[in-house]
Amino acid sequence: MAVVTSGRPALEAKDLYRFFRSGEDETLALRGVSLTVESGEILAVTGPSGSGKSTLLACLAGLDEPDGGSVFVSGTRMSHRSEGERAALRARHIGMLFQSANLIGHLSVEQNVRLAQRIASGDTPLPESVLDQVGLGHRAASRPSQLSGGEAARAGLAVALANNPAVLLADEPTGELDGATERRLLDLLRSHAARGCAVLVVSHSDDVVARADRVIALSDGRVAS
Ligand code: ADP
Ligand code: MG
Repeated sequence: MAVVTSGRPALEAKDLYRFFRSGEDETLALRGVSLTVESGEILAVTGPSGSGKSTLLACLAGLDEPDGGSVFVSGTRMSHRSEGERAALRARHIGMLFQSANLIGHLSVEQNVRLAQRIASGDTPLPESVLDQVGLGHRAASRPSQLSGGEAARAGLAVALANNPAVLLADEPTGELDGATERRLLDLLRSHAARGCAVLVVSHSDDVVARADRVIALSDGRVAS
């Protein structure tokens, strides 16, 4: 498992600001958000639509650059680096899970996992073991279009876990799942946290919030609770 050796939390955001400007309009999407997630911990982030949750995740993942503040992943600064450097750090340290599973349609489930591993470089688990972890060993050769909703969600999780990430970031991953499938996905997140991953889940689901170790609510770009 990825080990954080620096003594810092697996994920740390300090005083993040993000502004969007279009014409005369300025949106302050993040106004000084700080948070940490320790390895082994699940943090849920809630908040109404437009409160900045997706913007926060994008900054944490290095997909976007904050206008102020900094992000540290596994003790390494992610923010204020070139896009290429951020992409390399993300591929190595971060798994990302979205509601619309992050699967490439013309590749099999196993090929999707292998692709994420090739981009990550470094030590990655065997694709078979990643698929077994999410209970999809028997679906390795299937294309995404051949999967049920619940299987597609688990395949997306397999891709997110393919690089054995220190940090897993999920944006409303259970939004379109039925109750039983949601519980199964939550069990998988919990068991991955138990293996030392720091998990941050954006969700409106009461079940997700109930099973998190900690919850923070965003309101208008700030931490409200
Ligand atoms: P949430 O995920 O909580 O619904 P978002 O982070 O998507 O919220 O959005 C926060 C605010 O920032 C919203 O007002 C949204 O319209 C605005 N916003 C997000 N991304 C952009 C962008 N690329 N350009 C302009 N405004 C944006
Ligand atoms: Mg969002």
